[in-house]
Amino acid sequence: MYINKNLTTVNYNTGSGVGRIKYIVIHYTANNGDTAYGNTNYFKSVNRNASAHYFVDEKSIWQCVEDKDIAWHCGTSGTYFHKYCRNSNSIGVELCSYINSKGQYDFRQETVDNAVWLVKQLMDKYKVCVENVLRHFDVTHKRCPEPFVRDEIRWRNFTARLTLQEKIKMSEKTNLNINGKIYSADRILENDSNFINIRSFEQAGFKVGYDPVTKIPSIENKLEKIPVIACGILGNLEGVNINGTNVVTIRSLAALLGYTVDYIDGNIIITKQ
Ligand SMILES: [Zn+2]
Repeated sequence: MYINKNLTTVNYNTGSGVGRIKYIVIHYTANNGDTAYGNTNYFKSVNRNASAHYFVDEKSIWQCVEDKDIAWHCGTSGTYFHKYCRNSNSIGVELCSYINSKGQYDFRQETVDNAVWLVKQLMDKYKVCVENVLRHFDVTHKRCPEPFVRDEIRWRNFTARLTLQEKIKMSEKTNLNINGKIYSADRILENDSNFINIRSFEQAGFKVGYDPVTKIPSIENKLEKIPVIACGILGNLEGVNINGTNVVTIRSLAALLGYTVDYIDGNIIITKQ
């Protein structure tokens, strides 16, 4: 995912910096099939007396107010039901909504997935614990985000996902260049790092293993049987191709030629049998 920006010029107060961020407050837009970008345009330059830092839909994330600044998303002239969380110390995240076949406000699964991704980033960046990720409802008792107020279990599932190292769902094919040769590999981009399936290295002649006891994967140059004629004798030697050069084990070559090999004090001693 990627965070796009379309910042409002009017619907915010200048904040004291990102050190102010202690809470993340989740909202819904109460619209039917709106887009994240459309919301940032709505708040862009006309005074709406409201705003949020981020809008999330099923395809994208758009930022409306800088994190260091204060958006107007959970303030009230009425009663606060949370002791500490206010606009001044929080980030507001709005999920775009739609009306489902039962006539209820709902979120697309992809929108929730994208919100999980975004909130995890923000929690990590500003060291916000999951207990400080709140619904607007928890702050002022407004029924927002409605699908997460109507169904408490959905909210709990959402917050549970924030602390999980989620299994990566999708990988994509990428070209992997090993010693100048191109191979196809499964790549996953997660937290701005590239992850490659270690088995991809098998194509390039590496032996990939896994020790079920230590649970440590291994990767090594694969020993192959390489046919070699040595002193007129044909034999299959244990060899490996390193950067395009065939290398054989001394032991197999010596055995083919009728020599023995010993390793003493770091020296290799070859003796005719
Ligand atoms: Zn709200």
